[in-house]
Amino acid sequence: MSAAELDAIAAEVVGCPKCPLAKGRFKAVPGEGPPDARVMLIGEAPGYHENQQGRPFVGPAGQFLEELLGVAGLKRAEVFITNVVKCRPPGNRDPQPDEIAACSDYLSRQTAALKPRVIVTLGRHSLGRFLPGQPISRIHGVPRKVGTVTVFPMYHPAAALHQPTLRKTLLEDMAKLPGILAELEREPELPAAPPPPPEPPRQLSLF
Ligand code: URA
Ligand code: SF4
Repeated sequence: MSAAELDAIAAEVVGCPKCPLAKGRFKAVPGEGPPDARVMLIGEAPGYHENQQGRPFVGPAGQFLEELLGVAGLKRAEVFITNVVKCRPPGNRDPQPDEIAACSDYLSRQTAALKPRVIVTLGRHSLGRFLPGQPISRIHGVPRKVGTVTVFPMYHPAAALHQPTLRKTLLEDMAKLPGILAELEREPELPAAPPPPPEPPRQLSLF
């Protein structure tokens, strides 16, 4: 984890001119969470409320996300939440490939700075960054190693607001997260430091 790097990335995003979404935004949404978060959640793009506040997942989808986190015994304040693109697409349309490409470096740097135990992808744009071409309907709810990081694909919480049957799927998938984390905690992240050498026996001097 590198708090300074996460802050530096956020500062760059706030003034970023790299794609056409810069023009239409009110506030860019870099993402937020503690630098030692074990879980990183990646959504798609800011919507209306996020653009107003400059914070991720603060509208109705965010409310459901917080409920989902509760199922995993997690509080919003202990996870890192961000999006594939950091500025709101007009009318909440899908982000376009050129916009995703322009914004890609920020997410890569956030991931490298945070070094989360698990990345939860929310929806297909987020999934596509790690497992391109894999249908979410087939691979949601099953963790996968992608390089050195574990990716846990889930549907987007907003999808459940339109399709009530997905609500149950999302709740069931999220309920698996504590077990996945517990399993990963058993894998040492770094080689353990060698134990300190024993103290030499003290000799009491009588003189
Ligand atoms: N949907 C997203 O994908 N991200 C947000 O931040 C809010 C809604
Ligand atoms: Fe920059 Fe990303 Fe916003 Fe485009 S979406 S202006 S690349 S921060």
